[in-house]
Amino acid sequence: MTALTSFSVITRSSSEWIDITGKVEKAVAASGLREGICVVFVPHTTAAVTVNENADSDVPRDMILALNAISPDRQEFRHGEGNSAAHAKTSLVGPSLTLIVSGGRLLLGAWQGIWFNEYDGPRTRQVLVRVLGE
Ligand code: ZN
Repeated sequence: MTALTSFSVITRSSSEWIDITGKVEKAVAASGLREGICVVFVPHTTAAVTVNENADSDVPRDMILALNAISPDRQEFRHGEGNSAAHAKTSLVGPSLTLIVSGGRLLLGAWQGIWFNEYDGPRTRQVLVRVLGE
């Protein structure tokens, strides 16, 4: 079986991580998939998706600080829109995840959550979820 769904994420600041674990779990549950793969894809060039700790809210905050240190705004950037640092962070993190579904549930580690990453907000974003399997 296969199913494709999507949901919106409204971001409220220029750089922000939003926990979308519950929304992805809901999409998997609604599909009826028991065993297979869940692909999460963000169709944007200044937003990304990753897996990281969702127990301590300081973790996403610290990850944003770390990524800002790796990719600060630079005067040498040429891209006319002025958001090259956001494009760089998006490429570092990536646009998609492949997750394992077993017994109808996502197999995430005890401390893992799925984080939508905004790097050029605030905006209304989309997240696509494709489930494949049986
Ligand atoms: Zn741009």
